[in-house]
Amino acid sequence: MPNAFRLEEREGGVVLLTLDLPDKKVNTLSRAVLGELAQVIKGLEGRSDLRGLLFQSGKPGQFIAGADLNEIGAMAFASKEQIGQAIDFGHGLFTRLSRLPFPTVGLVDGNCMGGGTELILSLDYRIASNAPHTKIALPEVKIGVIPGWGGTQRMPRLIGLNAIDVICSGEAVDAKKAAALGLVFDAVPAERLVEEGLRLLDYAQSSGEWKRLREQRERPLGLSPDQAMFAFATAEGYIKGKTKGQYPAPLAALKAMQKGTNLPLEEGLKAEKEAALEVMGSPISANLVGIFFMNNRLTRDPGVDRTDLQPEAVKSVGVVGAGLMGSGIATAHARSGIPTAMVDVDESRVAAGLKRAEEVIASRIKIGRATPQDMADMLERLSTSTHQSLLADADVVVEAITENEKAKTATYKELAQYLKPGAILASNTSTISITRMAESTPDPSRFVGMHFFYPVDRMELVEVIRGAKTSDQTVVTIVALAKKIRKTPIVVQDCPGFLVNRVLFPYMNEALLLLQEGVPMDTIDAVATKFGMPMGPIALQDLVGLDTSFYAGKVLEHAYPDRAEPVPILADLVQSGQLGQKTGAGFRRHGGKRSEPNPAFASILEKHRSGTPPQDHETIQYRLFLPMLLEATRVLEEKIVREPADADMGLILGIGFPPFRGGILRWCDTEGADKLLERLKAFESLGKRFEPTETLKRHAQTGERFYPLPKLS
Ligand code: NAD
Repeated sequence: MPNAFRLEEREGGVVLLTLDLPDKKVNTLSRAVLGELAQVIKGLEGRSDLRGLLFQSGKPGQFIAGADLNEIGAMAFASKEQIGQAIDFGHGLFTRLSRLPFPTVGLVDGNCMGGGTELILSLDYRIASNAPHTKIALPEVKIGVIPGWGGTQRMPRLIGLNAIDVICSGEAVDAKKAAALGLVFDAVPAERLVEEGLRLLDYAQSSGEWKRLREQRERPLGLSPDQAMFAFATAEGYIKGKTKGQYPAPLAALKAMQKGTNLPLEEGLKAEKEAALEVMGSPISANLVGIFFMNNRLTRDPGVDRTDLQPEAVKSVGVVGAGLMGSGIATAHARSGIPTAMVDVDESRVAAGLKRAEEVIASRIKIGRATPQDMADMLERLSTSTHQSLLADADVVVEAITENEKAKTATYKELAQYLKPGAILASNTSTISITRMAESTPDPSRFVGMHFFYPVDRMELVEVIRGAKTSDQTVVTIVALAKKIRKTPIVVQDCPGFLVNRVLFPYMNEALLLLQEGVPMDTIDAVATKFGMPMGPIALQDLVGLDTSFYAGKVLEHAYPDRAEPVPILADLVQSGQLGQKTGAGFRRHGGKRSEPNPAFASILEKHRSGTPPQDHETIQYRLFLPMLLEATRVLEEKIVREPADADMGLILGIGFPPFRGGILRWCDTEGADKLLERLKAFESLGKRFEPTETLKRHAQTGERFYPLPKLS
């Protein structure tokens, strides 16, 4: 037993119940903790002599983080029967809590998530601390499930139809908003919580309000049919539009509310259970839970296997190149509080870079995510020059000049005169070898790739690329720096394409080969978006620019000649100067309301058309995604990344691979390696790029998975 609760009887017949998990930083509601709570409740059920109960956390600034993580992980693979039992247990426990023979008040200071929120919803009143760390949420839909311990029923009974947004978005509310919604009675300073709680108990007792509220909350909410119809239909339309039918949890939560809120609470809880069983234990929920764990791992990952290294302090940063990427990288550092120096070759480029930096903050101010003060602070921290001597103070210098190896290595040689001893030099190159370029730097062990994605202010991923001589200390420092500027770093060994572009390329190339065979571009894009990709591969080619795609493709073709098929249609378009959106036309013609296939492309296609186009969408889908999967398995075999999760998170964050699929390797686990191996057989005649890898064959033969199933106790 965890011994998680302390029960203290105070003068005046009030008990203070404190949840404080021994030896843990945060409180979670594991089965053992809930079992102990059941015992505590049992002891209180007969105490009609008491005047009230205050419930609090014994960890200042940390209320209840939600259910136990390992149990969440196991539940994603549990049987319907096991899930049903867990729901019944929670319903029973919280109903008993809600019926104690005296008024109850929850005192919330810190994060109150999921099951923690369902717990306080079962109390008569709630008061929150007004500290910024206090956040209340039912975030279950984010991991593909719904609140299943009464949240979908008690929240609407407390705050009415506002519950739809709170539950279906899964977003947290702060104390002020919680008070405005009626979710908490009041928001007060943390040190006054107990005092205010006692006052509230006095009021509850003297007015008898708590009894009336209890009765009311056990009854149907009493929405008029029109009110209900309008609110639920509007929410359903909105959710369907947003999730494209790929995320069923918010709709299941809505259904539970729609069905249950106009019934007595007990019936409503049954509706909740029914809706919860539809989504809990589904592959989509397992995938989303998986992402939650992968994110957690990345947050804690120092970037190397050893644990004895601390990141070095980075007090100031330099950026060479004020172009599209350089200005974004400099802005990201400056707005995270780091003094940043940005240099470019002439005044006009520096000015253009500075303008882009201002635009980033201006657009954030527009949507309420930044203030004019943030703009002033960012600009104060960002200094600029046309001379590299400005970089003399920098602990880390990120090079983001034009993608040209000679220019880059010449810059490193020049920089050597100015950099302070021990400064780390990082390159934002997309395609050039870090190991090779390291030889032109003062200290190859202090040289590393730091590959940001465009647009830097919105893309969370940073690939941290280790050259052959990059030291662990350098990696640890750069990983910590990337986290400090609110990015998610993934450490990758040096190889052509690094992780993301290497795994993306076979998919993009296959799309072009399908086009060359005669599959309409709209069909290719539609199959990819139906799979869940944010946009189709042909549309993506036009967006990133066909020249960029072509030159990056050349690097990969050269590096992986056995499987990278050249696509002459791309080369011809580039040669004709039709480079995609930036020139008004590429595979499609842009500028009108809708992008139409580019008529000029028809003759290029006619010239190179070869092969027989596959007809069915399923075949096209496997043609697109199997090459991506095979490359991801090669990346693992070559130990380019340390974990399958690194590859999957890289793709989710770097190219928008659909989160509900959990990544390309998780997709393989879900589909089954044996089934995918069968699919590959049908593509044998297409050549080496469809040849199964050793990993895939082994998984198919032995049932091994990239993500082993959790053990259910
Ligand atoms: P860009 O052309 O917008 O900017 C490059 C800037 O570097 C220009 O302003 C140029 O004047 C400046 N420059 C050139 N030589 C210089 C020197 N010796 N000293 C100082 N400044 C110099 O290019 P970009 O898109 O910002 O790309 C920069 C780097 O980032 C490239 O290595 C590219 O491969 C990489 N990258 C680009 C993207 C992308 O989507 N654009 C994404 C990831 C990585």
